[in-house]
Amino acid sequence: MIKEDLSLLEGLHTPFYYYDMDALEGTLSAMKAAAQAAGIAVHYALKANCDPRILKAVRAAGFGADCISGAEITLALESGFTPEDISFAGVGKSDKGILTALKAGVSVINVESVQELLVIEHIAKKYSLKANIGIRVNPNVDTHTLRYITSGMQANKFGITETDFPRVIEILRRSDSLVFKGIHCHAGSQMDMRSQAYRRVCRKVASFCTFFEEAGLKVEVINLGGGLAVNYEDPSEMPDFEGWMDSIREIFSESGARIITEPGRSLVAGCGTLYSRVLYIKENDLKTFLVIDAGMNNLLRPALYGAYHKIENLSADARAWKVPGLEEVTGENQVYEIVGPVCESSDTWGKERRMRLSVRGDLLAIRSAGAYGQVMANSYNMREPAQTVYSDKIEEAIKEEYV
Ligand SMILES: *Cc1c(COP(=O)(O)O)cnc(C)c1O
Repeated sequence: MIKEDLSLLEGLHTPFYYYDMDALEGTLSAMKAAAQAAGIAVHYALKANCDPRILKAVRAAGFGADCISGAEITLALESGFTPEDISFAGVGKSDKGILTALKAGVSVINVESVQELLVIEHIAKKYSLKANIGIRVNPNVDTHTLRYITSGMQANKFGITETDFPRVIEILRRSDSLVFKGIHCHAGSQMDMRSQAYRRVCRKVASFCTFFEEAGLKVEVINLGGGLAVNYEDPSEMPDFEGWMDSIREIFSESGARIITEPGRSLVAGCGTLYSRVLYIKENDLKTFLVIDAGMNNLLRPALYGAYHKIENLSADARAWKVPGLEEVTGENQVYEIVGPVCESSDTWGKERRMRLSVRGDLLAIRSAGAYGQVMANSYNMREPAQTVYSDKIEEAIKEEYV
């Protein structure tokens, strides 16, 4: 899936994020085909990666946008998404963000608490605007994903639980400023959409829809969020878009509502790689460290939630094939702890990683870095940001300068 020319990438200033625009196109097309066949709309979750070239490609694929802040709404509008194709989610929307959404006239604001609903009503009234409302429900189903990225449990901060529905319905019924549109649910991340757990979530959402309809509130939109898993062990594997659409269709086959999904990770993880150079090799009695020039400030996921990223030493692989007979001697028989330069022990890329013998200057590829990578970058330790390199604009990238 990822194509890379080592001779072009080797001389570039590291660390850098590389986006394979063909791989991105391939993934977007696969999602589009699956969604169209199922008659399901796609709103890309901007928070996964809001790089301007990526947004342009997503827009060109005909997808809408799922935004999580006022700034994301503004960026989506600037990137050509229409207000009708924008939804607004988030457990802690600021007053300013709500006003931005109301003024833009986004298709739906997905509300996460009773108090938030009242605040939106207040702001809408004050500015004589109407607010399109979706109710983000908490299905209270354990989707067995990573501890940190499950969001559909009652113990979790996201969504409105069943016990609050009567109060929500009462507010929606009496309000002139709030226009009820439908139900929203985002149950977690890295989910297997063919699993029983996901089907349970969908059935819960379907029963909640019935509850609202029986209370006289017509559900025009059912938004099932994102969360489709990507295979971090095998970055070349296409996410199971079809399986996802099948599961939804199976449960909502009778529904006349417009069904929306909000994939983030599954659309963009695979097209991105973070490249880094080996700075030092350092050995003690217990292990051998590979100190590389990309750190947790460039890609936070391993440090933040112990996330796994596949790492390949491209230079060592190329060396092995160049010299006949060397392949056998330098198989992946070295065990390294790969660490970054930041002054935190959690700045660790991987423990006990098997690799070929690595030397200073080798170029490493940290795979599946397109989602929740560059968007979470920070400048801790006053480190400079990783540059962005697009596969069709490599010539514009900054070259490495050695001292
Ligand atoms: C994060 C998020 C998504 C996207 O989740 P992925 O796991 O990246 O697909 C979709 N909807 C909402 C409301 C979110 O918060």
